[in-house]
Amino acid sequence: MRRITILGATGSIGQSTLDLIRRAPGDYAVVALTGGQNIAQLARDACELRAEVAVTADPARLNDLRAALDGSGVRAAAGEAALIEAATMPADWIMSAIVGVAGLAPGLAALGQGTTLALANKESLVTAGPLMLATAAAHGARILPVDSEHSAIFQALVGEDRAAVERVVITASGGAFRDRPLAELAHVTVAEASKHPNWDMGQRITIDSASMFNKALEIIEAKEFFDLESDCIEVLVHPQSTVHALVGFNDGAMMAHVGAPDMRHAIGYALNWPHRRALPVARLDLAAIGTLDFAHPDPARYPALALARQVMAAGGHSGAIFNAAKERALDHFISGHINFTAMSTLVARALNEIGGDTSGEITLESVGRWDHLTRQHIDRLVAA
Ligand code: NDP
Repeated sequence: MRRITILGATGSIGQSTLDLIRRAPGDYAVVALTGGQNIAQLARDACELRAEVAVTADPARLNDLRAALDGSGVRAAAGEAALIEAATMPADWIMSAIVGVAGLAPGLAALGQGTTLALANKESLVTAGPLMLATAAAHGARILPVDSEHSAIFQALVGEDRAAVERVVITASGGAFRDRPLAELAHVTVAEASKHPNWDMGQRITIDSASMFNKALEIIEAKEFFDLESDCIEVLVHPQSTVHALVGFNDGAMMAHVGAPDMRHAIGYALNWPHRRALPVARLDLAAIGTLDFAHPDPARYPALALARQVMAAGGHSGAIFNAAKERALDHFISGHINFTAMSTLVARALNEIGGDTSGEITLESVGRWDHLTRQHIDRLVAA
């Protein structure tokens, strides 16, 4: 039986992971499940799957969690230290699916135990890629990509000579506003931005898809994970979301990963790796789809992509600044303080205005410092 922990179990990725686990109950023992505010879901899943411990990130919700778990035999815990403890309990496979930079510390803690980390939390590699990879290497841990594009690249590279890779192409649906007139973007609502044309995901990543900040994070994630140069990573808008990524080799061949837009494929691939097992995802009918379209993204519609290139060129802690500025600008958009297009303006200003040398060793503490500084800067800009 494999021992499994899910960090961010109550979210979209966490629930899809649990769906796969439930389909093979005899194969897995659940060690820890973590969540944030959704105590009812966390308690329900922890009881059903007989987890050893359920953790809410919010210490103020500990009593609610205790009450919901009463009599179940599942231990309740709360707060940052409890998240780290959950990540370090002996497990064979840990899903990192907390949203935002909050996922970094628990993911790092898991790697420090030498475990296999299925990484959905792209922010970990964007803010602290070198630290994540060095920690994995030092402790014999393995990171398996869960982002669908990175899983696609990972799968296309199986058995290939890495030196023969010329480029990777990451596809993007174009998000909720792909076909909106540019002039209307400043007036779109949070509800409109929260509707993805193809994928069913958490609200934050769905809005990030509309702005392409999600794709911007993914380019940086690909650079870190696959050790690629910025100019070897291309983005193409592909409205059907059927081809998830392509790898181009030096003989001119391109290997494409084609599949239904269902995160249970990438999650299941990481869960079953290095084997393939049957997964409950739709089988594609290519004849019914008929046409696959690809186009270059419009830089005026998606300024986040150029900002990602700027971050990759700058290196150091600019990934931490970029991510924090994006997360805070997104908070302000969701709360109605700023409009949709102001998010990229604010992130650009943070990257250009936060002074000082952002180089230096990347540690959990240094990422935390730059993150804090950046959030304060964004708040000042919004308040001005
Ligand atoms: P969701 O918002 O659906 O879920 C996020 C999870 O993190 C929930 O369990 C939530 O708890 C928990 N959480 C929220 N804030 C905190 C915090 N401060 N500390 C600890 N836990 C917290 O996100 P998604 O599942 O959509 O995304 C998770 C990660 O996976 C993100 O990094 C995203 O970019 C990445 N990803 C997601 C994809 C998708 O299809 N959804 C695809 C590829 C990558 P609660 O809900 O109980 O408050």
